[in-house]
Amino acid sequence: MKAHDGMYIGGQWRPARGPDTIAVVNPADEQVIAHVPAGTADDVDDAVRAAREALPGWAATPPAERAARIAALRDVLVARADEIAETVTAELGAPLQLSQTVHAGVPVLVAGSYAELAASYSFEEKTGNSTVLLEPVGVVGAITPWNYPLHQVVAKVAPALAAGCTVVLKPAEDTPLTAQLFAEAVDEAGLPAGVFNLVTGLGPVAGQALAAHEDVDLVSFTGSTAVGRQIGATAGGAVKRVALELGGKSANVILPSADLAKAVNVGIANVMSNSGQTCSAWTRMLVHKDQYDEAVALARAAVAKYVPGERIGPLVSAKQQQRVRGYIEKGVAEGARLVAGGPEAPRETGYYVSPTVFADVTPEMTIAQEEIFGPVVSLIKYEDEDDALRIANGTVYGLAGAVWAADEAEAVAFARRMDTGQVDINGGRFNPLAPFGGYKQSGVGRELGPHGLSEYLQTKSLQF
Ligand code: NAP
Ligand code: MG
Repeated sequence: MKAHDGMYIGGQWRPARGPDTIAVVNPADEQVIAHVPAGTADDVDDAVRAAREALPGWAATPPAERAARIAALRDVLVARADEIAETVTAELGAPLQLSQTVHAGVPVLVAGSYAELAASYSFEEKTGNSTVLLEPVGVVGAITPWNYPLHQVVAKVAPALAAGCTVVLKPAEDTPLTAQLFAEAVDEAGLPAGVFNLVTGLGPVAGQALAAHEDVDLVSFTGSTAVGRQIGATAGGAVKRVALELGGKSANVILPSADLAKAVNVGIANVMSNSGQTCSAWTRMLVHKDQYDEAVALARAAVAKYVPGERIGPLVSAKQQQRVRGYIEKGVAEGARLVAGGPEAPRETGYYVSPTVFADVTPEMTIAQEEIFGPVVSLIKYEDEDDALRIANGTVYGLAGAVWAADEAEAVAFARRMDTGQVDINGGRFNPLAPFGGYKQSGVGRELGPHGLSEYLQTKSLQF
């Protein structure tokens, strides 16, 4: 794999300030495929300075012109889709088809939505005798995870650029090559120098330096709740804006009137996609006691289609593989019943985990409370609707969820009572304009669509 040995700062690839590098590993065969520089606080400082210098010019660029640049960026993402998909497959391990449709495809939709929003959004409002100006927050420090390496980047950078902000990105150490490709795309799209800057590096070094930098106005972070809590505290101490997209433990609630087979099949597919490394995955399947045994049989049959190395890829790293296998062992130890999969690795090489289904899971078990981030689904039995709601809402998280019922209105009535930021009704469909983000400890703030754009704006009221 092609890799840059420098940082993209101020519109050019510059040598890193320090000598350290990060090895990028292909999780399917455990081979080192590239090295990228491990950024230091000095690299971050250079990048923030470049973003600060570019800010006045970009903030003053008319929204229609900002929209045209974002549209050009989208076009480069389209033109380079194959290369993006191959890169995501190489460093994340996702099957190529998933990389093409989701990892390369979704960012095109999101970038396109912000090209349109930048052109159509009202950056000025009237209320009574006031005119309210919606102005860019300033320099954005973006810190992203590896699970959707390009989507997570575009979901921050596109709205930031649409708002008139400038950006410094610190991508995940496991997937820096996709981030370098994105920087190439920004360059090719003709964005002014310094509007977007990339510093690859380790979280506790480059990420920490970016989150704590006094000249960053807003920190937008996606990742674990543990790191998010720390970043929120640092931002709070400095009185700066912060957006946190954190973990989830979402419920897939199958009401008794639903098409059970469809709900179980889509539910299994939802968890197995991307090897379970999706923060919004419906990892708890809630089934009425009278349909429970049938649902378990359906789930066992559905998961058999996910053959490791074919339809389902490895996890991103040995560390994640170990972590997920540890959770599976814990599920067994706490008395859940394995109906598919288990802790043994299904292949000798590569960081694979067996697609795993647990039955007889009770709501308080560790596997029903903590985010596993792997191909593991827990089937939980409920007595009645109120019980289902109590279980669905009974974790510290609230990122996503699903409800299935014969009647849409019945599903919506249940969804209204759920403490969560997104609910798919009878399967739903991805909407790049729908706000995405968490209730409770799943985060602060929203991404995507106009709600995502407003995160990067601040208001100034003029009274007449
Ligand atoms: P993570 O350790 O929190 O990492 C996320 C990002 O933060 C990475 O770029 C990481 O760098 C960086 N980082 C780590 N420590 C840091 C620190 N002290 N200061 C500043 N930055 C730091 O998360 P992960 O384990 O890689 O990703 C999985 C987690 O992310 C899961 O919990 C998942 O639910 C969550 N997630 C949430 C969403 C969402 O939209 N809500 C989306 C995806 C993932 P390194 O790569 O060097 O560690
Ligand atoms: Mg990490």
